[in-house]
Amino acid sequence: MERFTHIFMDIFKKNIKYIVPTMFLFMSILLYNNASEQDDIETYSAEQTSIVELEKVDRLLLNGETIGYCKNLDVANLQGGVRKKLSERLNYEFEGELKFKLERGLEKTDDSMIVLSESDILNKASERAFAGIEKFKVPAYLVKIGEEFVIALKNEEELTEALNYAKSKYLDVDEDDVCVDLVCDERNPLVMAPVISLKRVVTKKDLISSPLKRGNEEEDKDKEESKENSEEIKESKLVEASFATDVIVIKAYVYEDEIKDVNVAKELITKENEKEKKYVVQKNDFPEVIAEKNDMPTEKLFELNPGLKERQKSIQIGEELTVMVPEPELSVSTKEIITYDEAVEFTTKYEKNPEKYVGNEKVKSPGELGVKRISAKIKTVNGVEVSREIVGEEIIKEPKPEVVLRGSKPLPSRGATGKFVCPLDSYVITSKFGPRWRRFHKGIDLGAPMGTPVYAADGGVVIWAAYKRSYGNLVIIDHGDGILTKYAHNSELLVKAGQYVSQYEVISKVGNTGRSTGPHLHFEIRLDGDAVDPQRFIDF
Ligand SMILES: [Zn+2]
Repeated sequence: MERFTHIFMDIFKKNIKYIVPTMFLFMSILLYNNASEQDDIETYSAEQTSIVELEKVDRLLLNGETIGYCKNLDVANLQGGVRKKLSERLNYEFEGELKFKLERGLEKTDDSMIVLSESDILNKASERAFAGIEKFKVPAYLVKIGEEFVIALKNEEELTEALNYAKSKYLDVDEDDVCVDLVCDERNPLVMAPVISLKRVVTKKDLISSPLKRGNEEEDKDKEESKENSEEIKESKLVEASFATDVIVIKAYVYEDEIKDVNVAKELITKENEKEKKYVVQKNDFPEVIAEKNDMPTEKLFELNPGLKERQKSIQIGEELTVMVPEPELSVSTKEIITYDEAVEFTTKYEKNPEKYVGNEKVKSPGELGVKRISAKIKTVNGVEVSREIVGEEIIKEPKPEVVLRGSKPLPSRGATGKFVCPLDSYVITSKFGPRWRRFHKGIDLGAPMGTPVYAADGGVVIWAAYKRSYGNLVIIDHGDGILTKYAHNSELLVKAGQYVSQYEVISKVGNTGRSTGPHLHFEIRLDGDAVDPQRFIDF
C-alpha cells in the first residue's frame, strides 16, 4: 500500500503540470454546462474564452482599416459615439464620413485577436477617425444678408472693417461719430445683429457745403446747381442710421478656404446687384422711356412684364410694372432732420383809386417775399431720399403785402366821345410817327414795362383781337366815321372781336410780340384807312 501510494504520488508529482490544467478544464466544462443550463445570457471572462476552442469574434474596420476585434458591437451606437467625441474635440460638428464595417464570426486563431471592450473600441475608432481628418474648420464670422448671401470673415476686426465700409459708402460722416456695433441675440450668443449706432447727433453741415469748396472748372455747373439746392439748407442732422437689409452675423466654424479676404468681402457686400422693383407708370411714359428712366434695356422690361410688348401703346398712368434697379447687397437707410428756408408768397391788397377808371390797376408799393424755416424728417436709402415729412414750420420773416391801386371811376358810356386819350398811363416815346429809315412808321411807339395795362383811346367796337404777323397780338377798335385805332405787340389780349368798349377800358397788356425789340405799345390812328400822326390828337 505504501508502495502504491508512493507510485501514485510519484506520478502525481511528475505530471502535476498536466493534471492541474486537465482538472481545471474538466471543472470549467462542468461549470460552463452548468451556466448555460441556468442562464443563456451569461458573458465570458477573458480567461474563460481564451481557452474555448473555435471562438468566434467580429472584426471592426473603419474606412477599410482594422480598428480591433469585438463581439456584439452596436455599430450605429459606435458611429454616434465617435461623432460626438470628434465634435467635442473639434469644437464643431464633425460632418465627415465614417464608414464602419463589421466582419462577423471570424475564428479566433491568434492570441493577438483580443476582444476589446466597448469603450476601448470607441477610443480607438475616434483616434483613427481624427487622424483621418484632412481639412479642419476654424472659427469665423459669417455675415448673412437676406436669405441667400453669406460671407465668412476671419475675425471680429475684419468683420467690423467690412461692415463699416458698407456703412460708410452711403454715410459720409466721421468714423468716430457713427460706428457699427454687434448686438448679441438674447437667445443665442453666437448670433449677432450689426447695428449702426450714432455716438451723437451728427450735423452734416460740412457735407452740405462741401460741393461749394470744389474749385474744378468742369464742375462749375454742378457747383452752381448744388449751390442753388444747398444754400437754403441751414442744417442737416443725422438722427438714425441702420442697415436696411436683413443682416445677421453668426459665429461659426468654417473651412479655412471659405474665409474671404477682407477687401474681397467689402466689394462683395457693397456690390450692386440687379433687384426687381415696382414702377408706377407716369404721364408720357412709354416702354422706352420707362426703360431709360430705370437704366435698363427695353427688351428686359418686356421680359419682366409679359404681354407688355403687345399692349405697349395702351399702358395706363398709375399702372405698376416690374423694373430692375441696381441695389447693393447691404443697403443703408437713414433718418435725417434737415432745416431749410422756403419763400412765403405775399398777398395783394387793393386800394380804391377814384382818379382812375375801373380796370386800371397800378402797384402802389411792391410786395416782398417772406421766409419760412422748415424742419423736415427725411428718410434715405443708399443716399437717395425716399420720404419727407414736415415736422416744423416757423415764419422767420413775414411777407410784406403788395398794395395795388384799383381804379374806381365808372367807365364812360360806350361809344366814341370824339376825343382820344393816351392809351398808357406812363411811357417813354421810343419812336415817333413818320419816316423811319427807309420805311414809314405809321404809329407811335410807347415803351412801358411788360404787362402795363393798355386803355382804349376812345369808345368803340373791337373789330380785331388776335395775332397778326409783325403786329403781334393786335387790337383794332372801330370808333365810327371811318376812324380806327390799333394797339400792337401786346403780351395779352383782354377783349374779343365784336365787343363794345368804353374809353379808358383796359383792352390788353403791353408786350413784345410780333416784330418788336422790347416791350412797347405801337399805337396807330387811321382816318379812312390812312395812318395819321397820333400826336396831332393826343398830347403825349
Ligand atoms: Zn411802332
